[in-house]
Amino acid sequence: MKKYGNKKLTQVNLVPSTLSKQEFEKVYSLLDVSPLEFDCGMLCASLCCCEYEPGVGMYLLPGEEQMFTMEEPWLTWAFVKASEHSFPPDWKGDVAFVKCNATCPRDKRPVQCRAFPLMPYLTHEGELQVKLDTLSGILICPMIKQADTYPVRPEFYTAVRSAWNILIKDPLIRSDVWHQSRQLDEEESSVWRGLLGW
Ligand code: SF4
Ligand code: SF4
Repeated sequence: MKKYGNKKLTQVNLVPSTLSKQEFEKVYSLLDVSPLEFDCGMLCASLCCCEYEPGVGMYLLPGEEQMFTMEEPWLTWAFVKASEHSFPPDWKGDVAFVKCNATCPRDKRPVQCRAFPLMPYLTHEGELQVKLDTLSGILICPMIKQADTYPVRPEFYTAVRSAWNILIKDPLIRSDVWHQSRQLDEEESSVWRGLLGW
């Protein structure tokens, strides 16, 4: 019996997904666009691909495991309980958490790597937008820290928005995007409170 991190595969009860492999393939192909006109890794020695803090890795979206064989030599798999991490309460089950050895085949990288440094954002009215991912990237990514110097290309914003338009058809992914959007609202309002001395 194969073991993936702390669990045998038969013990894994993944958060369900409504998206097909073809939909993930479409998302991956939409996201084959670079955020800058040159390799952004030159700005930071590819910091987001390194273990910039102990244990850092990526969560896969529900259903994204269809894009992997789970035998990739460049990935280490683990499964964590959604309820013990910062996912919305309607995520019931396990979530795949992968760590890479910083040498992925580029066409295989997960959604989280393809869309960074942007994140999806749902307005209170439910409209999908994309924003710089200050929640997870403010300390590491020059495109976020020096956004005026290294502006993300409009084509990349468009591609990321199109990809998330497909992904949020899955109600649980939409719920997670909603949850992250409210976290971002809170973070932004606390920054303003700090600046205004409230
Ligand atoms: S941290 Fe930002 S600039 Fe550096 S490689 Fe990652 S996405 Fe590119
Ligand atoms: S999977 Fe690839 S793009 Fe993503 S962090 Fe690892 S090396 Fe970087």
